[in-house]
Amino acid sequence: MAKKGTTCSFCGRHEDNQTFLVSGGEANICNHCIAQAHQIVMMQDDYQEGANAKFSEEIQLKKPAEIKAFLDQYVIGQDQTKKVLSVAVYNHYKRLMQEQTDDEVEVEKSNIIIVGRTGTGKTLVAKTIARMLDVPLAIVDATVLTEAGYVGEDVENMLTKLLQAADYDVAKAERGIVFIDEIDKIARKSDNPSITRDVSGEGVQQAMLKLLEGTVVNVPPKGGRKHPNQEFVQINTKDILFIAGGAFDGIERIISKRMNFQAVGFSSSIEAEKVDTENLLQYIIPKDLKDFGLIPEIIGRMPVLSYMDPLTKDTLRSILTEPKNALVKQYQKLFGIDGIQLTITDDALDFVVEKALEYKLGARGLRSLLEAILTDPMFELPGKEVTEFIVDKEFASQALDKNLLGKLAVGQ
Ligand code: ADP
Repeated sequence: MAKKGTTCSFCGRHEDNQTFLVSGGEANICNHCIAQAHQIVMMQDDYQEGANAKFSEEIQLKKPAEIKAFLDQYVIGQDQTKKVLSVAVYNHYKRLMQEQTDDEVEVEKSNIIIVGRTGTGKTLVAKTIARMLDVPLAIVDATVLTEAGYVGEDVENMLTKLLQAADYDVAKAERGIVFIDEIDKIARKSDNPSITRDVSGEGVQQAMLKLLEGTVVNVPPKGGRKHPNQEFVQINTKDILFIAGGAFDGIERIISKRMNFQAVGFSSSIEAEKVDTENLLQYIIPKDLKDFGLIPEIIGRMPVLSYMDPLTKDTLRSILTEPKNALVKQYQKLFGIDGIQLTITDDALDFVVEKALEYKLGARGLRSLLEAILTDPMFELPGKEVTEFIVDKEFASQALDKNLLGKLAVGQ
């Protein structure tokens, strides 16, 4: 309380029966001004929540070409997917901003399906987009999901993960990204829709529909199965971007069958000759997903479809050194901390790529190969008077034989 005889520093009122003053240091504020200030603060909060002005501004700054340029720094190749994704993400966040205007045209959500072999960068793309937008990301494995009531996880658990990634900030989670890995594993096993429901496949797809489209879901904040006495957090999924990835093993056969059929139908043998049979995924259309066993409703709610190219020798080689946080750069940093300058010669890097291809280790294998090559130096060099270390092909080959390839050969 203020001293007797002082006035409100804002409106000049004296203390009386209806007015009392709160003083802080040199200034005083009366109860009327406090009430008014409180109202202003509440309006400000409403404004923040409703318009998300800052968020819109930030997202608006990134045009599709800029999103792609950002992806280029981390993801090698995969140009088509990077382009398609940049547009989809741009449109998705544009849609969020548009929702606040009174317009009759409602832009639909652009959930995405990416088809591509394992280790080609599907998760990496989703991670990179989330990092760029600074939105929370949940990576979930579709194989553990089951229909409610069966052993496994309820689909709502995806949102629990997202909520956790958002540090339990619901508003943040509601604009996040969910990456559903191995979506192909919940494909319907049989082409016959009238067959008794299969728990792990179609049932899960059905359970997922509402989530993909946009609905308010009761989410158990700690995960696990829903039970009546549990507390729930309500999450609206209408602005959550779902990106699904899957290898869809065998879908090439479906694509090629369809294309052969078309080629015959239109007798365009020249067209057929131009088909790149090494990379049939590039011709994928939504119908192929249906034939694989995704239900049409799921495909309809994930309207953006893209594919990943298989990793070639050149892409693997670039992955080693080019991305912003490339593996070689990471090891150089680790050695640098001990004052050692690490050089891996081009020959040695080519050799690593050859081995990754030979043992079918893919991009994920590059890390294990480098780790095996560098284990001994990482053990021995710290603390020694060494300022430089060079890995050439010979060193790489010996170290790999000793630490990894010997074991892989036995395992084969
Ligand atoms: P997927 O989700 O397709 O199975 P990931 O995105 O998990 O594959 O890729 C595995 C790892 O391989 C990534 O962490 C990354 O280091 C590397 N990688 C794969 N593809 C690429 C790529 N196109 N560009 C850069 N790194 C890649």
